[in-house]
Amino acid sequence: MNGSPVETVFSMLNDTAVSLQDARASSYLEALAESGEYWFSGEVDEELDEVIKKRLAHAYESHPLENYGKEEIRKAYQLAILKGMKEHIQPNHQMTPDSIAMVIGFLLDKFTSNEQELKLLDPALGTGNLALAIMNQLEGKVSLTHGVEIDEVLVRLAYVGANLTEQPLHLYTQDALEPLFIDPVDAVISDLPVGYYPNDERAADYELQAKEGHSYAHHLFIEQSIQHVKEGGYLFFLVPNGLFESPFASQLHEFLQKQVHIQGLLKLPDSLFKSEQAGKSVLILQRQKEGVNPPRQVLLAEMPKLSNAQAVQSMMNKIGLWMEENKK
Ligand code: SAM
Repeated sequence: MNGSPVETVFSMLNDTAVSLQDARASSYLEALAESGEYWFSGEVDEELDEVIKKRLAHAYESHPLENYGKEEIRKAYQLAILKGMKEHIQPNHQMTPDSIAMVIGFLLDKFTSNEQELKLLDPALGTGNLALAIMNQLEGKVSLTHGVEIDEVLVRLAYVGANLTEQPLHLYTQDALEPLFIDPVDAVISDLPVGYYPNDERAADYELQAKEGHSYAHHLFIEQSIQHVKEGGYLFFLVPNGLFESPFASQLHEFLQKQVHIQGLLKLPDSLFKSEQAGKSVLILQRQKEGVNPPRQVLLAEMPKLSNAQAVQSMMNKIGLWMEENKK
């Protein structure tokens, strides 16, 4: 059976993960991370049963890592992660799909077209798919991404994904709303966790804390991100369509007016999401800096269905024109 390289790598990762899952009585995702580590290091745990050790060694030897491209590996690994997430559903296990990563990667590249090298922060790294897809897409322009994630299994998956695709990712396993020991970055990219943040004591350190009850985690993430981007640096967030219609919207808007220049809000096609209510947009911000003016007009647009290549191209041209008129 000769499948595409992505199918071949997926099968290999899947088979080895299933063997390890049985051997360890662990979850598929933990086993997948373990398998990825062995594939990368070329060494398997000596303590494993002989039959499994042989099976794993054979699988890795017949698929040398260097035979595959970064995108082939990332896509195959992503398919395996999706399989694991479907098998064992957890509310915070949500990977950013490639189509959205592609849009954010395009915007990041456009808005930073004068930069040769970028350091990024993703404060809600998850599996690392968004960050790694963008790093692959921008081919060497991103010299480092700092990724913060609270879920240990996801951090491990991101760590393995970064090794397999040889991308420089610095990982921090922590609550991203606790203090971050990260130097200011050139840009932030993030698919924000949406909902209430349970730690009111921590939230009290933020200007965007709710006057009463729990605060919105996504608002606090925006504030935290702004504190960790350089002056003049850009931020790209995947946010709910109703971000500026929520009960805390005026507080958010006031805060943003003081700290950033809102560059744009790009609504993504509903077809990318389970329902219209779950629809999201890309919010683009620039941290204020002396001498940097706000855009004449905020970029407000609705992305066409990404399967419509012509409409997507025409939207990208429109964004290009907006940049020429507003980002001089
Ligand atoms: N871009 C990610 C990817 O491609 O896999 C998906 C991000 S997902 C929408 C949001 C992530 O935020 C989840 O992985 C969740 O565990 C993480 N998260 C939620 N609250 C957090 C917190 N307080 N600190 C750090 N990470 C948090």
